[in-house]
Amino acid sequence: MEKIKAVFNGSFDALENIKISPFSRAYTFSDSVYEVVPFFNSKAIAYEDHIERLKNSSKSLSIDIDIKNAADEINKLIKSCNSKNGYVYYQVTRGVDLIRSHLYSNSLETETFGYVLPFSFNTQPIKVMACKDQRWGRCDIKSTSLLGNIMSMNSAQKEGCKEVIMHRDNILTEAGASNLFFSVGNKICTPALSNNILPGITRSLLIKELKKSYMMVIEDEYTLADLSKASSAWLTSSTKGLAAISEIVNLDSNLNINDPIFLKCKDIFDNKFFS
Ligand code: PLP
Repeated sequence: MEKIKAVFNGSFDALENIKISPFSRAYTFSDSVYEVVPFFNSKAIAYEDHIERLKNSSKSLSIDIDIKNAADEINKLIKSCNSKNGYVYYQVTRGVDLIRSHLYSNSLETETFGYVLPFSFNTQPIKVMACKDQRWGRCDIKSTSLLGNIMSMNSAQKEGCKEVIMHRDNILTEAGASNLFFSVGNKICTPALSNNILPGITRSLLIKELKKSYMMVIEDEYTLADLSKASSAWLTSSTKGLAAISEIVNLDSNLNINDPIFLKCKDIFDNKFFS
């Protein structure tokens, strides 16, 4: 198998040659932020948006980032990939802290790490489970601290599901690794952004394209009862694109993966970004 191409603190090498310190705050505290940048036909999808979000995530946690350097490294990883389609994972960590303390020193050197993988973007419909959102209060930051998501998604996997739809006090937030959309009549609904939701790049690209096509998208507060009235529902992310939800195992609903509204949305998105 071909070696995975990676970069660590500015040095490009095979992933297997990279060594990290166990005192990296990514290891001890999950004190790091990340991006997943998809590329298709060797061109990054929404490159500037991903770079901007990485800058914002770092700023929210006061992690020093040389954003131009990060952007260059992401570009180089894409160019180095033998496949035209794939994604780059890129992580920025506060640094190696030889005293394990919640209080970080301001003199730490930021640690950066990225790798590139070939990937084929052909999403299948997915079965999901609804569950309580047990995450922290700043899910708008794309941090590597994802234990709430991991716990929920792995409980759902025991019920044969690949994703979850989370709600806080009955208000829908998002999925474990994607944003949520659903259609009721000709209305397309998605939870409005807040501190409880990651501002997904795919979410915003889709909303923009749908509005250009004069489709009605309403970002608002929605409940599980609203979702149970939907004729279609789907998840969005950089690697999934638009993935139809085939079933919500613990919610009465009547979702159709061939619903014309969903198919139209998927068509608009795929024509714009994957053709
Ligand atoms: N929400 C969460 C919790 C995610 O982890 C992700 C992607 O990883 C998304 C939404 C979708 O974001 P994007 O479309 O930028 O990939």
